[in-house]
Amino acid sequence: MTARGAPLTGLYPGTFDPVTRGHEDLIGRALTIVDTLWVGVASDTTKEPLFPIEERVEMLREVTADEPRIRVEAFAGLTVEFARRIGARAILRGLRAVSDFEFEFQMALMNKHLAPDIEMLFMAPDSTYSFLSSSLVREVARLGGDVEAFVSPVVAQRLSERFGGRERAS
Ligand code: ADP
Repeated sequence: MTARGAPLTGLYPGTFDPVTRGHEDLIGRALTIVDTLWVGVASDTTKEPLFPIEERVEMLREVTADEPRIRVEAFAGLTVEFARRIGARAILRGLRAVSDFEFEFQMALMNKHLAPDIEMLFMAPDSTYSFLSSSLVREVARLGGDVEAFVSPVVAQRLSERFGGRERAS
């Protein structure tokens, strides 16, 4: 419940290409603060994702299946517009290291400009995950490395379907 007495809905937006243990850590932390957490998977992205939007959503639904307070949906367009549509009062983002700060801060200021009524909340993951990113996981998996410590088994399975059978270039 918020100070205003209404249940608090939060939005955790991202590309999730694919969801990692770092994202899962943040989702767990967010659930200690908000009553309902929407995980918004951005379909409009300047990145060129490895996994199509449907698969990114499916993987997130699989890894969060045990938690009824989570909803996973794809969204297009501005994050703040999506937050408004679902009634989210807060947008949650992760800060791993100082290197994340500049981009996240710029984005936070822009979001405050676009939607002054929505708060940006930043959370740090457990230090185990401070250096973990989806791009690193994709790269290691592509080169045939073991990523099981960094992603859930359902994600490891999809990565090996993507890259499996492909011999490492010698
Ligand atoms: P985006 O393209 O929006 O940055 P990502 O899926 O890469 O999407 O990240 C979504 C959010 O999760 C970002 O706020 C990012 O900083 C955070 N994040 C990603 N990996 C981790 C991690 N290992 N620990 C904590 N936060 C993370």
